[in-house]
Amino acid sequence: MAQEFSDESQQALATFFTERVRLNERSQFLSPINVIEPWIRHCAACDTPRNKTKSFSLGGILLGDTMIYDPYPLCLCGDCEEEIQSLLSHQTLRAWDDFVQTNFDCPPEYYRDLPTKRRPALL
Ligand SMILES: [Zn+2]
Repeated sequence: MAQEFSDESQQALATFFTERVRLNERSQFLSPINVIEPWIRHCAACDTPRNKTKSFSLGGILLGDTMIYDPYPLCLCGDCEEEIQSLLSHQTLRAWDDFVQTNFDCPPEYYRDLPTKRRPALL
């Protein structure tokens, strides 16, 4: 999927996640008992506590029922999701919309309240 993103969008996403999410610093949440809560306690980009956000998305990588840690899981608040969407080119937004429509069969109501204007967030 990422290969379909424009070069400008790939660079903008890389810059956002490097500068704002600081993926390299998320290893501080690793623990021998793999507790999810510290990873998603705050928005990974703006540090707003998750329980103080109007909306948020959670992202993670799972193998079956096993969570793969570092740098995920993470939380992004709705404001940061909107900021990410604003960084993407029209080409990338079209590719993302096509990917979501082709691969996810959800009722329209599912997307109604998304802060990203009916478009699931890129995490
Ligand atoms: Zn945020």
